[in-house]
Amino acid sequence: MNLRASLLLQELGRRPLLGDGATGTQLQLLGLAPGAGGELWSVDHPERVQQVHRAYLAAGADLLTTNTFGGTSCVLGPHGAGGRVRELNVAAAKLARGVAGDRAWVLGDVGPFGGLLEPLGEALPEDVAAAFREQCAALLEGGADAILVETMSDPAEAVLAVEAAQAAGAGLVFATFTFQRSPRGYRTMLGTSAADALAAVLSAGADVVGANCGTALSLADYEKLTAELVAAANGHPVIVQPNAGSPMLVDGKICYAESAAQFAAAAPRFLAAGARLVGGCCGSTPAHIAAMAALIKA
Ligand SMILES: [Zn+2]
Repeated sequence: MNLRASLLLQELGRRPLLGDGATGTQLQLLGLAPGAGGELWSVDHPERVQQVHRAYLAAGADLLTTNTFGGTSCVLGPHGAGGRVRELNVAAAKLARGVAGDRAWVLGDVGPFGGLLEPLGEALPEDVAAAFREQCAALLEGGADAILVETMSDPAEAVLAVEAAQAAGAGLVFATFTFQRSPRGYRTMLGTSAADALAAVLSAGADVVGANCGTALSLADYEKLTAELVAAANGHPVIVQPNAGSPMLVDGKICYAESAAQFAAAAPRFLAAGARLVGGCCGSTPAHIAAMAALIKA
């Protein structure tokens, strides 16, 4: 494990850590068209990507997430950038590192590859694994301290990403799933429980586990889910990064329901339920993170 990654784990033993908020919705405020490949902005508009990182650092985030959610060749391909994985991921990691310096840690962000693994879909595990490895290697080359595998629904895909991160040399790997309400309790889109999802990535060697996103989950749901995650985490630190409410269409623009104050008020409850890291996903802004910082760093 590199020095900064081991310092991160040490610090986590001393105090709860604060993640950042959404990247995609923040870039949309700066002009990114919804559905466009925001990852290209790490090269085309680096100053705007750094503006988002800077705002989160100023808000009190201890962890900055790279602008690489769709940074595999599988996702970049349809944007005509399947051959630019290394360039875009190295660039994004350098942008975050440049803002973070020694004041925050950089999480190299790895989102889903955008399809389904066989037998549910047609993607071959070895192809998806190779795509994750290519992305993780570039994120580490650019200066990421750890890899964050996030917004996962399929434990098999999450395991491929965690193993790819380790194979690429990551000493510290985070893995988080997206859950929704179901008649049988909280489940991923593919029907996996929190206990089964976490067991899969923990046995693959993930160090920090948890949940993010989840449009249909309220903050009260997230509090209950946090308790389930902590029970399933086998002593590993748990991270929760909810959405700022469900997206709503107002005057043709996507808005999120939770005010910064409402959103932040849930953070101490997540920590009381045993989470060690909190932050935000879609719709959360620097104001949401600053409000969280005021409560949990007081
Ligand atoms: Zn999200």
